Amino acid sequence: MSIDHEFPLSEAAARFIAAPKKNLIGGHWCEAQSGLTLDVRNPATGEVFARVPAADAADIDQAVRAARSAFESQGWRGARPIDRERWLLKLAELVEANAQELAEIETLDNGKPVTLARRVDVTQAADFLRYIAGWATKIEGSTVEASAPAFRKNEFFAYTRREPVGVVGAIIPWNFPLLMAAWKVGPALAAGCTVVLKPAEDTPLTALRFAELALEAGFPAGVLNVVTGFGHIAGAALAAHPGVNKISFTGSTQVGKLIGKAAMDNMTRVSLELGGKSPVIVLDDADPKAAAAGAANAVFFNMGQVCVAGSRLYVQRGIFDAVLEGVSAGAQKLRIGPGLDPNSQLGPLVSEKQMNRVRGYIQSGIDDGGRVLTGGERIGERGYFVKPTVLTGLGEQARIVQEEVFGPVVVATPFDDLDEVVKLANSTPYGLAASIWSNDLKRVQRLIPRIEAGTVWVNCHGVMDNALPFGGYKQSGIGREMGSSLIDHYTETKSVLMML
Ligand code: ADP
Ligand code: MG
Repeated sequence: MSIDHEFPLSEAAARFIAAPKKNLIGGHWCEAQSGLTLDVRNPATGEVFARVPAADAADIDQAVRAARSAFESQGWRGARPIDRERWLLKLAELVEANAQELAEIETLDNGKPVTLARRVDVTQAADFLRYIAGWATKIEGSTVEASAPAFRKNEFFAYTRREPVGVVGAIIPWNFPLLMAAWKVGPALAAGCTVVLKPAEDTPLTALRFAELALEAGFPAGVLNVVTGFGHIAGAALAAHPGVNKISFTGSTQVGKLIGKAAMDNMTRVSLELGGKSPVIVLDDADPKAAAAGAANAVFFNMGQVCVAGSRLYVQRGIFDAVLEGVSAGAQKLRIGPGLDPNSQLGPLVSEKQMNRVRGYIQSGIDDGGRVLTGGERIGERGYFVKPTVLTGLGEQARIVQEEVFGPVVVATPFDDLDEVVKLANSTPYGLAASIWSNDLKRVQRLIPRIEAGTVWVNCHGVMDNALPFGGYKQSGIGREMGSSLIDHYTETKSVLMML
């Protein structure tokens, strides 16, 4: 097993990569009961550089039992909100203290530039853990003035309390592995739940390092369990396990539906953050240069492997050519290379499968009559590099306009008036996000309520804030992450009525 030696790793990352990888169940590090492992590949080279346990239903069952017993243990039940807050703050501190190591592991695993992994993934994970740590001490019920008209002679005291939902199964994708782990594990632990986390088979490593840090932060054994394995085996077993009270999933709409159906059999609570096909809408008063830069960043950031990627670009006709030229020029200027190279602005796609998927979509766009303005091809024969790609000349019904590509590919289309762009923007099954580029307040305000999307950005795209709810309309999901309502997902409401 080898790593790209052109770009050396820090000592800490090299040590972690070289060590045997095990799952964390009930505070113990263990192999899969079957002894099976799965290969972890470096997307920059295609080489296998690590192996992790390939868990199956037996391991998942063991992890769910461990999480249940931790949930009922005095060490966790008896912990006060302030204890959970402190453990989460400590975990955030440890994520930051090990930032370079985590970033390098993420880069080897996912391919993304190490500078981006550090600036975005690791930094946002630490920031989010701090944000959610604060919520641990702000979970509130309410007192209710009860009428109970059938019992007029009696007096009552009524109130609600919020209780942790129990064992949480978290299934996360490969595009922001550490950050997604933080998004799921943070609120679950803040609310007093325990967790079984299953990272994506393509990117299992930072979740394992995160689990080490959680132990170091002082969380009791069994509160966080991490089990690596394939989605259709370990993931499916977790979604269908009757001992899981809530499943929190981020990934494709297709898998989200399977998970939702499996969960329903046990009435397991679910929240689903799914795919997107987010429109970038540029009105003709916008500065074409600034809009082009924004549109390029909206789709090429993280190689387009972002659920909110701005993969459809709608530009009002008067400035269509100018914006398109800017986006194409921007695409050509981006430096693509191995993520460990500090000069790379874009890395490879995550896997050979993903590369083939993206190339298949580009080909389908060409077959449907689209014109490639720039990109369209793979780079070299080693690793999973694809050029940032701009297509135009495609109708609403083309597959590449309707379906999520999850790659650095944008389809640009001109429009004439607002009614037309609203119709275009809402024409896919998805509804995750959208951005509008304009300073014409009247037109912007008229558009915002008409766009079917969980988030609308104005003159920016993809900016996330821990305090703003995030989630999808339509087939982009159920529920919201971030913000104060997050705690609702990880708690049940108990109503108490006392006759005095
Ligand atoms: P992709 O197709 O790009 O890999 P997925 O939605 O399949 O995206 O992956 C997101 C997560 O869902 C991963 O952790 C994966 O292992 C998991 N997963 C995939 N298939 C299933 C399934 N049938 N049941 C549960 N989890 C799954
Ligand atoms: Mg999959």
